[in-house]
Amino acid sequence: MITLEHVSKRYQMGDVVVTALDDVSLHINRGEFVVVLGPSGSGKTTLLNLISALDTPTNGRIVIAGKDITQAKRFENFRFRRETVSFIFQTFNLFPSLTALENVQFAVDMRGNGANGAVPTLQSVGLGERVNHFPHELSGGEQQRVAIARALATGNPILLADEPTGELDFRTGVQILELLQSQATAGKTVLVVTHNREISRVADRVIELSSGKIVSDGVPQGGKAAIADLHW
Ligand code: ADP
Ligand code: MG
Repeated sequence: MITLEHVSKRYQMGDVVVTALDDVSLHINRGEFVVVLGPSGSGKTTLLNLISALDTPTNGRIVIAGKDITQAKRFENFRFRRETVSFIFQTFNLFPSLTALENVQFAVDMRGNGANGAVPTLQSVGLGERVNHFPHELSGGEQQRVAIARALATGNPILLADEPTGELDFRTGVQILELLQSQATAGKTVLVVTHNREISRVADRVIELSSGKIVSDGVPQGGKAAIADLHW
């Protein structure tokens, strides 16, 4: 579903070159629940931006759902972002003046054909009783569930989540992880980025980044943990 071949991303900052990703190659199958683990500055957000065609690599090739996005034209990537990848942010990024339902409906309208209904999607994340609430009337965990509903309503096959539990307390964070994991079980390809090693223990597979390089890729250290066994 996601293939990167020798992908590098460098930024020129005046006289210095910052290497955000350094010769990264990986392959992620459909339905995998993958955590990308690494400290701040290790290149995690850069990786997600490249996979979602929000940015282009300096070198290398990226193939998503059979399409080489590094060769694509700008307008083709617009369509790709609408129909293939959905992004979930640490800070939720909901429209403050729209209700939960209207926030999700916005994504449904953007997507057009192929989208799921906004109300059933909110019900599927446990927010059937909150559809007419505004973001400021919802808890952090509920706001993140609206953001997940917004991503799911598009029907897109790939979910990318950048530190989705970073703003949440432990219990709420665990619930969000369970929700994301259940999406992978249902056939979505789910990539969650975190700097928290404890979170990575629930993944099928952990890809660890350090200074823009993959330093390990496999089952979590000490084996996969049940979400109920996490501590952070
Ligand atoms: P992470 O998400 O793991 O914290 P990032 O992918 O945001 O890391 O950043 C990786 C490195 O690339 C950092 O050193 C960061 O300062 C640098 N970087 C990221 N985006 C830019 C940019 N637009 N311009 C210059 N440097 C950048
Ligand atoms: Mg980041």
